Amino acid sequence: MQDRAYLKCIDEQCGAKYPITYTGVECMAGHLLDVKYKDIPPYSLRELFYNRRNPQGSIFNESGVWRFRELLNFCQIDTGDAKMCSKHLVSLDGAEGRLSKPYHMGRVAEFVGLNSENLWLQPEGYNPSGSFKDNGMATAVTHAKMVGAKKIVCASTGNTSASAGMFAANEGMACDVYIPSGQIAPGKLSQAYQFGTQIVKIDGNFDDALDQSLRDTKENNGYTVNSVNPFRIEGQKTIPYRALEYLGWEPPDWIVYPGGALGNTSSCGKALMELYDWGWIKKIPRIAVINSKGASTLSDLYNGSFEGEKLRWNQGKPNIELIHRYYQSLDEQKKRPNTKATAIQIGRPANILKGLRALEFTNGIVDTVTDAQMLDGMSAVGLNGFDCEMASGATVAGIKKLTSCGIIKKDDSVVGILTGRQKDPMLPVEYHNNPENLFARPPKD
Ligand SMILES: *Cc1c(COP(=O)(O)O)cnc(C)c1O
Repeated sequence: MQDRAYLKCIDEQCGAKYPITYTGVECMAGHLLDVKYKDIPPYSLRELFYNRRNPQGSIFNESGVWRFRELLNFCQIDTGDAKMCSKHLVSLDGAEGRLSKPYHMGRVAEFVGLNSENLWLQPEGYNPSGSFKDNGMATAVTHAKMVGAKKIVCASTGNTSASAGMFAANEGMACDVYIPSGQIAPGKLSQAYQFGTQIVKIDGNFDDALDQSLRDTKENNGYTVNSVNPFRIEGQKTIPYRALEYLGWEPPDWIVYPGGALGNTSSCGKALMELYDWGWIKKIPRIAVINSKGASTLSDLYNGSFEGEKLRWNQGKPNIELIHRYYQSLDEQKKRPNTKATAIQIGRPANILKGLRALEFTNGIVDTVTDAQMLDGMSAVGLNGFDCEMASGATVAGIKKLTSCGIIKKDDSVVGILTGRQKDPMLPVEYHNNPENLFARPPKD
């Protein structure tokens, strides 16, 4: 075993060899060293590499979305045939979802008050455009291609436009993105420009941008890729698939998400309903959705703080009038969603009904956290060598809040989804320069 790898002097004449445990950086004569590898008979290194590797060399087996393609085969193709897959399935060379899986993060566990063995966090920021949106965009753009769409359209708090722009550029499609002006992180806006999208600035918030984009799409024959599109939801099912696959299909007690337009909540619910139906899982994890205090539509309605009624899916008969009255009261009071976590600064979650269905099936709960709590959550993730954006910090802050009030029990197992990578670079800089912040490490002069 030990001598399959060794160190060797780069000087041909000298050629001194050292064991791999040698810690010097030069040979006795002062020449630099190389690390060398030997074949392991009867195989060559090349044979070993290819035997272990994905044997068909198919990007669709590597993709974190398409390796579950039998479970989202809306193209109705023979999924074993690689040629057919590459004709139909949209993929960024297999990169979507490939690196995001659950990780233990000790510093976060300590912060939220759980044992590290019971807590996993899944960084969806490890997607090629930097957020979980790539999971659903791969499938939505696949459907757009299937129906011959020439242009995809979305409204965005930032990450949707980055993801849509990336896939559109890769597929040679046009892409229009409706963006609430001044309310999007600089890193996200710059991606939309860089991928060559047509930006449409909306003087309003995300909810206004979505309304406008849906109206324009109808008139101009575009194809909407917001999470109201059911094919987005199909791809996002792979987020819980990957978590469950990693856990050997033994569901955790909880799956925790930040709540914005509620596409994630909806897709997680659908994935669990299907897996349960198919007998693939026996236990149903509870979904916890964490709203920002400044954009708390779902929490207000679900927990009965509006008109005292707790809004429920109610087996398919939700009180839709209650939702309308809530929106009306927001308008009357001129109350706009308001949080620094722009990705979840949404007042009218487009998927609220599918979200309620998911909460009913999983006996889910909804809670809120403050901006300060989200920033601490985001910073705790950073201390484990992972980065995430402020909205993802809601997951950590929510787990902490639910654990400290005993809803999440000390020995419950929890998977938290970190929805996106940091794209607002000044946020951590500001956080750490203020010594009053919990995890702040201000610079030295
Ligand atoms: C889009 C987004 C959300 C909100 O997700 P929904 O599925 O709309 O609830 C949360 N975090 C990040 C980073 C996002 O990009």
